[in-house]
Amino acid sequence: MQQGYVEIGEEASAPGKHVFSNAHALTAEQQKAIDSITQHSGYGCFLLHGITGSGKTEVYVHLLHNVLQRGGQALLLVPEINLTPQLENYFRSRFPDAALVSLHSGLSDGERLHNWQQAQAGTAQIVLGTRLSVFSELPSLALIIVDEEHDSSFKQQDGLRYSARDVAIFRARQLGIRIVLGSATPSLESYYNAQNGRYQLLKLSKRAQAEARLPAVRCVNINQTVMHHGVSENLLREIEQRIKRKEQSLLFINRRGYAPVLMCTGCGWLSDCKHCAGKLVLHLDEKRLRCHHCGYQIRVPTACPGCGNADLIPLGSGTQRVESVLQERTFPRSTHFAHRS
Ligand SMILES: [Zn+2]
Ligand SMILES: [Zn+2]
Repeated sequence: MQQGYVEIGEEASAPGKHVFSNAHALTAEQQKAIDSITQHSGYGCFLLHGITGSGKTEVYVHLLHNVLQRGGQALLLVPEINLTPQLENYFRSRFPDAALVSLHSGLSDGERLHNWQQAQAGTAQIVLGTRLSVFSELPSLALIIVDEEHDSSFKQQDGLRYSARDVAIFRARQLGIRIVLGSATPSLESYYNAQNGRYQLLKLSKRAQAEARLPAVRCVNINQTVMHHGVSENLLREIEQRIKRKEQSLLFINRRGYAPVLMCTGCGWLSDCKHCAGKLVLHLDEKRLRCHHCGYQIRVPTACPGCGNADLIPLGSGTQRVESVLQERTFPRSTHFAHRS
């Protein structure tokens, strides 16, 4: 397996040297997905909902093979961060005799023009590209695949605003061809469209390699547990057990500072940023309120600017608050913490 990219191609351990390496036994779900898509004619949008490691890439390879056999062109859209030389090499290794070009912003103008012309002339059989490639002219286009369809990099946020995924679906409908949206975590809109039948839902619920085991995931309903400054009783107990076993624990909290906002219990005043739509985040160690969006900051007020009430409470939990609760309530001083506040 090539290193340096995640998810896509992960299940391919031995790229073959033949036109189409087919060394991997397909799971029943993979086979069913391939059959559903290849046997469909005309426009059809398929949501390939496959857990991590379920072998979505292998499904893509089979679909591409099918298109190439019939003399068509295929467009494979991937998120910017995934389009690495390793990924390109992987697909080249699976289709060594096929004309594959890539289209992304990292190419020189000359390369980009050359690849674009290959696509336009119909000589490029597989176009592997980021969002901009959705506009390339492909006279024999027969299949579009959008991998990681939920990824935000498919949306251009400035200048001409568009969603490459949605443009791809529009093109597929216009041309009367098939489009496959692949994801382990589909966007809500795609999932909704699959639920109500606008898209056909294809599930890969098992890992392609049996020895690859899924981690145990438990979702804790915090409405039914005691919370300590944003940390549940259950979690504290679990961490305690790990410390006893001399194991490490990683906690992910998506908020810096002590608390995301300060509130007045008297009048309901909130620490809004006066320069933007953000909230001022409480940083207790520096005794400051800071806006993480525009950088505006002030000292923590001693009383509410609205009503003069001195009872101001921090709402929610950031990394500093979680660190302090772990230190105070549960774990000995010798426990080491590392965090970025
Ligand atoms: Zn107040
Ligand atoms: Zn601000």
